[in-house]
Amino acid sequence: YSFKRISEVDEKVQAFLTLDEEKALQKAKDLDAKLTAGETKSMLFGMPIGVKDNIVTQGLRTTCASKILDNFDPIYDATVVNKLHSAETVTVGKLNMDEFAMGSSNENSGFKPVRNPWNIDHVPGGSSGGSAASVAAGEVLFSLGSDTGGSIRQPASFCGVVGLKPTYGRVSRFGLVAFASSLDQIGPITRNVEDNAFLLQAIAGIDPMDSTSANIEVPNFSEALTGDVKGLRIAVPKEYLGEGVTEEVRASVLKSLSVLEKLGATWEEVSLPHSKYALAAYYLLSSSEASANLARFDGVRYGYRTENPENLLELYKKTRAEGFGDEVKRRIMLGTFALSSGYYDAYYKKAQKVRTLIKQDFEQVFENYDVIIGPTTPTPAFKLGEKVDDPLTMYANDILTIPVNLAGVPGISVPCGLSNDGLPLGLQIIGKHFDESTIYRVAHAFE
Ligand code: GLN
Repeated sequence: YSFKRISEVDEKVQAFLTLDEEKALQKAKDLDAKLTAGETKSMLFGMPIGVKDNIVTQGLRTTCASKILDNFDPIYDATVVNKLHSAETVTVGKLNMDEFAMGSSNENSGFKPVRNPWNIDHVPGGSSGGSAASVAAGEVLFSLGSDTGGSIRQPASFCGVVGLKPTYGRVSRFGLVAFASSLDQIGPITRNVEDNAFLLQAIAGIDPMDSTSANIEVPNFSEALTGDVKGLRIAVPKEYLGEGVTEEVRASVLKSLSVLEKLGATWEEVSLPHSKYALAAYYLLSSSEASANLARFDGVRYGYRTENPENLLELYKKTRAEGFGDEVKRRIMLGTFALSSGYYDAYYKKAQKVRTLIKQDFEQVFENYDVIIGPTTPTPAFKLGEKVDDPLTMYANDILTIPVNLAGVPGISVPCGLSNDGLPLGLQIIGKHFDESTIYRVAHAFE
């Protein structure tokens, strides 16, 4: 069914970079045989799933949507991919994205832009645009994305699906091609909250291969789906409904809050005073980490290599000049500059201090409240080409998602209505560290 749907719509949506049809159909057959033998166990048994192309899959091309990895076939599976095998899902293929997960519109893909299934003149969001669009277009039921500064929640919001960024450490990053290691998390994108909880259940947990994965018990997330939000205390940061947030986005959030109020929850306005510095701190820190992480793409170890270099230095230089796209180069230059001696204290170190202040903002609010609610993005999906030449406006689109990554807390985007132009709007629900259950409980109350 998935492949039929893909053949019908993917020419327009452009969500997939690589399909794994032969292996997927074989796996489906094997699972079918198991079913007949009465051997099934997993909740996700036989479910078709798409995997973002920065998550490595053994023998299945993994490009990070970059020319520099055009012909790269990994020799191992990421931990989450192994876990999907154990959960008996069927991997359909690899999903398009912004190159190395740097972007908010998918226009930075080194191959082709993904389009929003609700209106193909609009972007699907990014960087997990393929992950969100493939689920929204009915090509797969589930997908995995990654979120460094909003890359799961923002495209989920733009495409009208459910996307969760787990707590930093909840899901193993082993086999996720690193962008900014202190911020990256893999998470589930699905059509509804229940599916989302099942998929997180399958991929969560400590992993000896990732020393930043947390040794904390993984609860049964679906037990939280009770519909009961009585007595729940909600904080609504005034910074999240302020300047730059359109009227229809604000109205949809207030409407969702009144639904929760009717169900017995209460809400109050709070402040996350350091939010205004989050964007600057994020772009410094994430670019610094990226400049170090992307040093490994040197034309020797992986993927693309320039032709006929005259010496080793030229091999590096030409491979990287030809292989990386403009946005990736911009981040590497920014990060290299911020980390260079003489500038380190003024930029990188200061940004780390700001990050601590932002984390403390969240901790203070969570002393008195169970969840924080606001919009996922200031506007609905914008048009292709609208912001592509203006990086700063593009970066500003992440203003509501980035603080969550800097604090390391979990956050979800769930659909909360349509804009006047008929495009989806997303509600963001943010929880305490390792309290995805409460997020799911609140999100599920809308279904
Ligand atoms: N849009 C943000 C960026 O370009 C976030 C990306 C992400 O979360 N991977 O960095």
